[in-house]
Order: sequence, then structure tokens, then C-alpha cells
Amino acid sequence: MKKELGLYVHIPFCVRKCAYCDFPSFAGREKDMEAYVNRLIGEMKEKADSGVAIATLYVGGGTPSLLPAALMERVLGALRGTFDFLPDAECSCECNPGTVTEPFLRVLKKGGINRLSFGAQAFQARLLHLLGRIHTWEQVKESVSMARAQGFSNLNLDLMLGLPGQTLADMEETLEAALSLSPTHLSCYGLIVEEGTKMHDQVENGAWTLPDEETERDMYELCRSTLSRRGFLQYEISNFALPGFACRHNLDCWRRREYLGLGSSACGFSGNVRYRNAPALDDYLAGKPPEKTVISPEDARFESVMLGLRMTEGVSEEAFYQMHGVSLWDAYGEKLKSSMSAGLVVRENGYLKLTRRGMDVQNRVLVDLL
Ligand code: SF4
Repeated sequence: MKKELGLYVHIPFCVRKCAYCDFPSFAGREKDMEAYVNRLIGEMKEKADSGVAIATLYVGGGTPSLLPAALMERVLGALRGTFDFLPDAECSCECNPGTVTEPFLRVLKKGGINRLSFGAQAFQARLLHLLGRIHTWEQVKESVSMARAQGFSNLNLDLMLGLPGQTLADMEETLEAALSLSPTHLSCYGLIVEEGTKMHDQVENGAWTLPDEETERDMYELCRSTLSRRGFLQYEISNFALPGFACRHNLDCWRRREYLGLGSSACGFSGNVRYRNAPALDDYLAGKPPEKTVISPEDARFESVMLGLRMTEGVSEEAFYQMHGVSLWDAYGEKLKSSMSAGLVVRENGYLKLTRRGMDVQNRVLVDLL
């Protein structure tokens, strides 16, 4: 029987760098797209393995939808020609409004992509402008409608909360605008202002002020209550889906299942070895080998708990034992005592999970475990 794996493919190109972005993406490198695709196809051949079946594919970025349709056609054709995909594989592709075209969507459809994720972020033009996004909400609507016309029905929208100047009323308006597009999945991420980004400078020099913690918590609660009322199930700290539409690729990452990564900066892991491809575009194009790290048994166990606690289902005791050969309680029983007595984590039906209060202070629980 073949080993089922997830596959991540990174497309690092963007029109321009958003103000908050510290992802490995590059603006103004369109001339390198063809060479990048050639290198990516070369890497597929290096990683080809007839003992593997791809259960989930995630094409992320960057902005995959910035790739010309003909190049994306080559990428998807080479993936299908190199790897075996399970017949029901979940195949996602990130798209950014303002870059999506009909020929591109047709290529995705033909290449077996069955789930699209749009970076929508916020309804208000002033917030999109402040984020440095290249699109308007009108373009979000247009992209979704183009996708539906091409037969895509499994659609995610990424939204952001905790933005400078964002109010609770803004968040409500964004949620309503997003829900009116009938997505199957919504990701609601709190803004993290990373050092080295334009937004960090603006916040540091006082040009932008972030909402206080309480307002941000209220926005998060608004997302949770609104989406729950509208039939969405929260399955991870930031992710909500209609029943049956949770992203399997992400679930497998949080369950710490092995996956392959292709493209600049892409990570993957197999057994006790994790690798990361060269993050700099030129290094990747020049064929610089990936960095490899051996994961110690202690680190592997901690990763399982750290990732698993992000999910509302929590960490499966059985899966933990299967993966690490030691019970969750033998590994962490003592260290969990204080979080359990503080009501931050609970043990329920074979799972260790955060309580509602524990979700707010996840880091405290993890520090105890360290
Ligand atoms: S579109 Fe995404 S990856 Fe590209 S610059 Fe903006 S946040 Fe970064």
C-alpha cells in the first residue's frame, strides 16, 4: 500500500509586497517565473517516489494566481505526471483578487484543483489600502464570481482582524460581505506585526495604532459567534468551515503528518528529518540544496502537542502513542497538571484539548509543557 502524503508547492511571486508581509515572497521578479517553473519541475523529479500517493495538494505563495496560465498548466501537468494522486485528493490553490483571470481558473480546473483560497482580508477600502493590498472588495467579488462560473464551489476567504484603525463595526461589515459570497470556509487571522515589515515601522513611529487587546478579542469573539450562527464549525484557532469543508491539508499539518514541500522556502518532513528549501529565490534557482534538521524525539512530541492544541478536536492520545511510542500522559502528565487544574486544558474522549479560556492563553499552556 502506498504511503499517503500531503504536498505543498510554493509560488513566491507577488505584484508588490503588502505592508504586513514577512512571507517568503518577491515583487517584481516576473522575468524569473519561467526559470522558476523549470526548477520546480526539476525538483519534482528529484522527489518522485512511486511508493507515495498524494492525499492533499496545496499550492500557496506568494501569489500563485500571478503565474501566467501557461506556466501554471506546466506545473500542474508535471505534478500529475510525477506523483500519484488519490482519486479524492483535496487540491487547493491560493489566489489573490486582482490577479485572477478566466484562463488561469480554467487551467486550475483542468489540472484537478478543487478548492480555492482567496486573500480577501477586509471589506473597507481604507483597510485594504493600509495593508498595501493590490485589490478592492469589488475585485474579491469578481474573482469569486469568475471562480463559480468555472465550476469551483469549495471556496475559502482569508480575513484579518486587529488591524490599525479597524473597529468592531468594520469587522461585522467584513464578515457580512464575506458571508454574502457563500464561502465554504473562512480563515480569520489576527494581524501579527513582524519586525522588518513596513507596518512594523509605521506602528513603531506612531503613524498607525493597533486596536487594544480587548477590542481585538471582541473582534475574534464576533467572528466566532457570527460564524457559528451561520452554520460554520470552528476547527482551529483561526479556521471555520461548513460541515465537511475543513481543509484536509491543514488538518494533516496540525496532526503532524508527513508532507513534501516543493519550491523556494518550502518545508517538508519525513521520519525524523525536516528540510527547508533555500528561501532566497536566486539560491533556489541556482540549485542550492535544502537545509536539513534532525528532529529529536522530545521536539517531535512537543510539536505534536503544540500543533494539536491549535485544533478544537485537540491532540489524539491514540495518534500520539502511534507516532511517538509513548503515551501522552507519560510524556506530559506532570507538566499538564497546573493547566488542567486552572481549567485551561481538558481530557475528553481520548483527546487533550484547550478549553475556551485555554485558547486565549495557549502560549501559557505551551510554556508549562516546555
Ligand atoms: S499577497 Fe500575500 S505573500 Fe504576497 S506580499 Fe501580500 S501578504 Fe505577502
